[in-house]
Amino acid sequence: MIYDVAIVGAGPGGLHAAIWAAKKGLKVALIEKRKDIGKITRYCSEHIILDKNYNGDTIIVEPGRPMEGPNCMVPSNPDNKIRSEKFGWEITYNGPLCPCLDKYYYSADLKHNAHYGWPDKSPIAWKYDKGGLQQQLLDAVLALGVEFVNNTTCYEANDGPDEVTLKCVTEGKRFRLKARKLIAADGASAQIAQSLGMNEGRMYFTSAPVVALYMSGVKNYSPNEWVGFWGLCYGSAFAPLLGTGPAGHFDWADLILVGSLEKKPMELFEYFTKQSPVAWMFETAKVERMHSCTTKAFAPMKKPYRGNCLMIGDAAAFVEVQAQGALNCGFWAADAVARELEGKPGFEEYGKTWLETFEFNDDGMMQVTTGYALIPYYTDEQVVYLFSLLDGVVMNGSWSQYDSPRMMWAEIHKHDERIKIERPDIWEKLTKQQSRTLGD
Ligand SMILES: Cc1cc2nc3c(=O)[nH]c(=O)nc-3n(C[C@H](O)[C@H](O)[C@H](O)COP(=O)(O)OP(=O)(O)OC[C@H]3O[C@@H](n4cnc5c(N)ncnc54)[C@H](O)[C@@H]3O)c2cc1C
Repeated sequence: MIYDVAIVGAGPGGLHAAIWAAKKGLKVALIEKRKDIGKITRYCSEHIILDKNYNGDTIIVEPGRPMEGPNCMVPSNPDNKIRSEKFGWEITYNGPLCPCLDKYYYSADLKHNAHYGWPDKSPIAWKYDKGGLQQQLLDAVLALGVEFVNNTTCYEANDGPDEVTLKCVTEGKRFRLKARKLIAADGASAQIAQSLGMNEGRMYFTSAPVVALYMSGVKNYSPNEWVGFWGLCYGSAFAPLLGTGPAGHFDWADLILVGSLEKKPMELFEYFTKQSPVAWMFETAKVERMHSCTTKAFAPMKKPYRGNCLMIGDAAAFVEVQAQGALNCGFWAADAVARELEGKPGFEEYGKTWLETFEFNDDGMMQVTTGYALIPYYTDEQVVYLFSLLDGVVMNGSWSQYDSPRMMWAEIHKHDERIKIERPDIWEKLTKQQSRTLGD
């Protein structure tokens, strides 16, 4: 038996690819190492990001019920729609939604902040149930007759002239699966690309251990806010983040800490919750659940295909493509495979869309790194000064890690003359920093 396409990985990218490939009449096998994809094991903060043209697309969320209660929640219902404005796909999502209405980045003294939010309180992002959505997508996959091979790891792929052979293992039992085309949607670990030699030449920037703790009883917590704390006084050069708890517990806070080899995330947790300026918020808090993962940053693949194989989603990316970006990749990938099977250059077309769509494929990425490098480049006191220039300013409701820092720096630069006079120390750093490149 030979499949038209084998897809490795049933995350958002692989699931969406399977749905659209099956809808095109292709014979599809979907291989997934986990038993139950309805439960998220690799941490994700589970927000649908609403920024216009974010990673080349605008995602529209239409809640199926009106927002209710003081925190504007949308209860589970069968009528929520998630739609891609640019590429036209639509998904019905049954789970609950909680809107993020304001984003704050605080400086060390907690008096000054960078505030993002819309004047009419439109959501910046929606917290949703990613596991529930994946389960729903899987139900659609199964209904379309896709062969779902779960609890199975694909540990090697070999590409031949007319077919790809996948070596797989299920509970110690090894077997091979053949397909005319392969879509690798196995996420940031990019094991399949590795086995095909496609990670060679990808520059490796960094990898960071992340821990996320869902906590009840956090004082001053609002499920409608996304908050970052910028300053070494918070224990880390990577701003600790406080977001919304998981579906079913939007009342819990989600504390996200990015560590390093030297600073383990749990040491950061101890420091942040016991000694930082916001330790008081955690006096009566209880850890309800904990997740960890490692984020890796490889240079994105400029050409995410070779022979009969196409790498999609996080497997080919710089950092995360986000679930919505992975859904786009899956959608394009199904089309690409169908066209390849008709003898057309589907993978080349996919590659073009990939490069044009994701912002991290562009040199704008350099501005991002400079934009984010607040700590430890500037001292805590210098960040307090910079954030004080944002007093009374509410920037547009942006979640994007690319646009938010640009917007913040644009606001700060309105005060260039003042900074030069009042803080030549900061001005000197700022002018040096903003002419640096990613390679630096
Ligand atoms: C800290 C953090 C916060 C995030 N927050 C958000 C957010 O708020 N919103 C958002 O949209 N995104 C967020 N993301 C990113 C998001 O999780 C990913 O970008 C997205 O899930 C990528 O989808 P994917 O389908 O490419 O890969 P994945 O979701 O990683 O799916 C890969 C699948 O492949 C399976 N797999 C892996 N290797 C194999 C193998 N060898 N054989 C078989 N199966 C295999 C895995 O089990 C998994 O199911 C966050 C990520 C991190 C790290």
